[in-house]
Amino acid sequence: MRKYIKIFLWLPLLLSLNAVNAAAENKLSVVASFSILGDITAQIGGDKIELTTLVGNNGDAHTYSPKPNDVKKVAAADLVVLNGLGFEGWLPRLLESSHFSGMKISASDGISSLQGACSHSKHQDHEVHHEHADEHENQHAGSHGDENNHEHEHADSHGHHHDIDPHAWHSIKNVKVYAANISRALSIIDPDNISYYQHNLAVYEQKLNTLDSKIKTMFASIPQEQRKVIVPHSAFAYFQRDYQVSFYSLQGTSTESEASAADIAAVIDQVRKNEIKAVFVENISDNRLIEQISADTDAQVGGKLFSDALSNADQGASSYLELMEHNALSLVNALK
Ligand SMILES: [Zn+2]
Repeated sequence: MRKYIKIFLWLPLLLSLNAVNAAAENKLSVVASFSILGDITAQIGGDKIELTTLVGNNGDAHTYSPKPNDVKKVAAADLVVLNGLGFEGWLPRLLESSHFSGMKISASDGISSLQGACSHSKHQDHEVHHEHADEHENQHAGSHGDENNHEHEHADSHGHHHDIDPHAWHSIKNVKVYAANISRALSIIDPDNISYYQHNLAVYEQKLNTLDSKIKTMFASIPQEQRKVIVPHSAFAYFQRDYQVSFYSLQGTSTESEASAADIAAVIDQVRKNEIKAVFVENISDNRLIEQISADTDAQVGGKLFSDALSNADQGASSYLELMEHNALSLVNALK
């Protein structure tokens, strides 16, 4: 009899512990490939998801090598969110080795993608990497795209090969598509919370629209011919398209290949010829060459741009919205 009383007394506690465990288990396990995408995913998933980000703050997703622990994180995921457009070259192998069986989406599905700058690894010329603004529709709009497809590369009329520029998040317009894709995926996996995800999407879209208008207003005071800057790698073509700032870079759309002496000479030439006043460092790049260009020309280092990763909490770009506002403000201050 005493035994039964004991069990009876413990029962409420056991039940409440079970309830806590169940609540944790009910959260969707979501993996985002890199920090910027992690933040966008968190804005939509809120407290319904348990989020893991693979490439962290100030990390370079171009050159990332998955850690043994990443296999476990991916294996347990209900949803993997990647940028797509060939950005995460290391991800297909990670998905394979973790026997991932959940849902996978490219957040960029449906955006109008841009061609990247010429890659020196493919042909030897020494023109400076000036961002291209040629747009073409992503052929996989609306589908759950596969980053393994081979349509991310095509030849232009001169036979040059151009990769698709993966840095689509530098357009707020594109990030609204990212957020909608993430909301749609979460709603498919977790239909009980559709209205929650839709509400979060609407709130986030409002914030994105407000920031987009703010940035347009900021640039309105800068004459078009003054909007020219040098950056380490070619990550800002989408920003260029939306806000008409010309970016010249030392490296192509990836940080993998190093700039040659000829690349540096070509950039110095551009600075002088186009009277470019500002050079910027990036949070993910080797910035010594940028400092050298500033030393060799009249161009001043205008500050740091956050290109492919968020910053830590105390560095001013710990969310996507902060990142875009920081970059725009730094550019406007350096160009006026
Ligand atoms: Zn990049």
